[in-house]
Amino acid sequence: MCADAGTHEIAPRSGVAFTLDKGDRLIVIDPRGEQVADLLAFNRHDLDEVISSGRTLDYASRIYLTTGDPLYSNRSNVLLRIVEDTVGRHDFLLTPCSADTFRIIYRDADPHHGCFGNLAAALAPYGIAPDRIPVAFNCFMNVPVDAATGALAVEPPLSRAGDRITFEAEADLVVGLTACSAPQSNNGSFKPIHYRIERGSRSGCDGDDPRGRDAVRNASASGA
Ligand SMILES: [Zn+2]
Repeated sequence: MCADAGTHEIAPRSGVAFTLDKGDRLIVIDPRGEQVADLLAFNRHDLDEVISSGRTLDYASRIYLTTGDPLYSNRSNVLLRIVEDTVGRHDFLLTPCSADTFRIIYRDADPHHGCFGNLAAALAPYGIAPDRIPVAFNCFMNVPVDAATGALAVEPPLSRAGDRITFEAEADLVVGLTACSAPQSNNGSFKPIHYRIERGSRSGCDGDDPRGRDAVRNASASGA
């Protein structure tokens, strides 16, 4: 296991995409606290395979996932596994925030493109079209559910500065990751997200610049 070019920052209300090899670890860090990061993962060799909220929650028989839990694909293969989690509260029910989210829920007249627009822009160079974007795994998002009625709420994240969640890739992946754009999800302020990649044995640590192989694709604020 070796680290690549250190810690990367995703600017507030933006997103990136990059590749992981099987065995690599992705560490998603909330540097200031109370900030959500939407995570998507596609099979790099067949982009029709993507993480599935429905299958994952069905097989877990829980809606809150943490250390040890796998994220299954739409074909019931494990794409990622949570191997460390200092928060213990994340969401895998709600779609990435989008212009439609802000139009319908917030009644914005000129809505921001949200995580959906940022993910679509960052994933486009990999050949992933917006209609392929499913429910994301929303790191640090706090969505309590009333057991009797099923009513859900979006509450401030439980994450504090420096909290993190670590995933291990169980397949070769294209990953999309954001610093979420929704006011309610982030307790009213937009903050950056940090991430690090620890390369597994297949990627090697022989001095090559690992970022040359998987140049991070940034979605600018002008995206989608
Ligand atoms: Zn969002």
